Amino acid sequence: QIAEWKKLRDKPTVSQDGIHVELAANIGTPNDVNGVIDNGGEGVGLYRTEFLYMGRDKLPSEEIQYNAYRTVLENMKGKPVVVRTLDIGGDKELPYLDLPKEMNPFLGFRAIRLCLDRQDIFRTQLRALLRASVHGDLRIMFPMIATLGEFRAAREFLLEEKAKLKAEGKEISDQIQLGIMVEIPSTAVLADQFAKEVDFFSIGTNDLIQYTMAADRMNERVSYLYQPYNPAILRLVKNVIDAAHAEGKWTGMCGEMAGDSTAIPLLLGLGLDEFSMSATSILPARSQISKLSAADMKELAAKALQLGTAEEVAMLVQSMTN
Ligand code: PEP
Ligand code: MG
Repeated sequence: QIAEWKKLRDKPTVSQDGIHVELAANIGTPNDVNGVIDNGGEGVGLYRTEFLYMGRDKLPSEEIQYNAYRTVLENMKGKPVVVRTLDIGGDKELPYLDLPKEMNPFLGFRAIRLCLDRQDIFRTQLRALLRASVHGDLRIMFPMIATLGEFRAAREFLLEEKAKLKAEGKEISDQIQLGIMVEIPSTAVLADQFAKEVDFFSIGTNDLIQYTMAADRMNERVSYLYQPYNPAILRLVKNVIDAAHAEGKWTGMCGEMAGDSTAIPLLLGLGLDEFSMSATSILPARSQISKLSAADMKELAAKALQLGTAEEVAMLVQSMTN
């Protein structure tokens, strides 16, 4: 089996009936890029930049960030790289920011909420990203977007920093795609409105499932409610993909669900364009997809959407893919 996977390393990802999708990797540091290349990743679908901010005693400078982003873009050699802006808060803390303790950190002051408030932090990151943009195919993604107003405000900061850098004579790419994570149910429901203004969506199922099921993703006692195959989740995913396609935009997924072998047939059937997962899952996923018919998976997904429970969906997937 490993020999079979190795042969797929430099191949595109194509279903049995000729439908192309993109398999990308989630990374946390520039060093992870080696693993992406070794495992045949077609891009980076999620670069979690919080690690640049963690494990040090003060904020990373614009220069430190620029070097990290540039390294990733250069080493990916023109393949797409989706960089997520700072997603701190929730389970990830930054001691030097000295933020007050919250009753419900996952529902609190985190990610884009913090960035829109702490403009100094956000603008520094955006400047580093914009400067790095000439070194590859950079795509910028905002985390935890709950309203269109948040997206527009964040985009405004980006445009302001871009204008300033240009005025300073810096070269900035004009091809930077700008997207959002869809990980809050309000945004998944309102995807048709967002799709008019973003270039792409990436569905963050780790949080989307947590917020849809109202079940803390860190709490073992409610882990039975973490249900990627629940038809409620599948309907949200479908809504996001369809909304993007209606506007000619693409949708990826960067939560754990994207690399799950039971979910992959459903996601292929729902028309997901990009799957971003841990690098070591890429070749098994490419092999799995090469044996699936996208047309059959479309029928599978349509049936799954009409079921009542996650267990029924998992059973249906087993019966229709074996
Ligand atoms: C997600 O929420 O699915 C996601 C990819 O982001 P994180 O796991 O970093 O919250
Ligand atoms: Mg998340």
